Amino acid sequence: MVEVIFLGTGGGRFAMITQKAKTGGIRIISNKTNMHVDPGPGALIYSLEQGLDPQKINVLFISHAHLDHTNDACLLLEAMTRGGRSKRGTLAASHSVIEGNEICDKAITRYHIGLPERVIEAKDGTKFDVGDFEVEVVKAIHADPDTVGFCLKTPDAGSIGYLPDSEYFEDLGAFFKGVRLLILSVLRPAGKPWKGHMTTEDAARIAEEARPDLLVITHFGMQMLLSPPFREARIIEEKTGIHTIAAKYGMRISMDGKIRMGESKKQADLSLFMGR
Ligand SMILES: [Zn+2]
Ligand SMILES: [Zn+2]
Repeated sequence: MVEVIFLGTGGGRFAMITQKAKTGGIRIISNKTNMHVDPGPGALIYSLEQGLDPQKINVLFISHAHLDHTNDACLLLEAMTRGGRSKRGTLAASHSVIEGNEICDKAITRYHIGLPERVIEAKDGTKFDVGDFEVEVVKAIHADPDTVGFCLKTPDAGSIGYLPDSEYFEDLGAFFKGVRLLILSVLRPAGKPWKGHMTTEDAARIAEEARPDLLVITHFGMQMLLSPPFREARIIEEKTGIHTIAAKYGMRISMDGKIRMGESKKQADLSLFMGR
């Protein structure tokens, strides 16, 4: 079984600095793999709050070098490597995150890049195995030109697609074709396009082409939050016939033969932290 847990649903500057929606990213957990995707501000604290031990992470995937995706990266690398004492785990991140590019400074310090056992530069077409997942990287079109998403194959729960901030482009539908769960970052509501980002209409186009069993929209900007997101999810579902939900903080999706949705397991007292 694979479990996907949303540690935030916010994206962009204003959702982030106001924390009108949390920005901790996504955790994907199987028997052998404990993967954190896009550790924005709050990734560490919301992991603890949700009872997900950050020291059990064994792969950190970072799509691009914007702060709502990278802020807690160094913290999680310290957690993954037992405070830097144990060389373990994999960091898979865009070139911009690891090296920087002409637009973005690198997002991880030299010290922290030296902590994990393996560092993979994730570019369009890169394939790697991690635990019991097979990951294939896909490009995105965004202000950071090195931005990437992925499709990952699980051993017994089908595949999961993830696209961070991106404009719509033609290859996306084909790349994600047949995934069971598709997670799209839809910063803007219908009718409010913004260069380098996706609107509800763009998400519907990708969904229509990819035909996932379940589409989850997340990474909401302020205009999306005001819409609100569940209404935008309904627009996509009515247009495409694909089951579509708007992510909520703490939402858990379990995938085996079936796909099931669970509620937040918010811990009132972090000292009761059980971890997994
Ligand atoms: Zn973003
Ligand atoms: Zn971005």
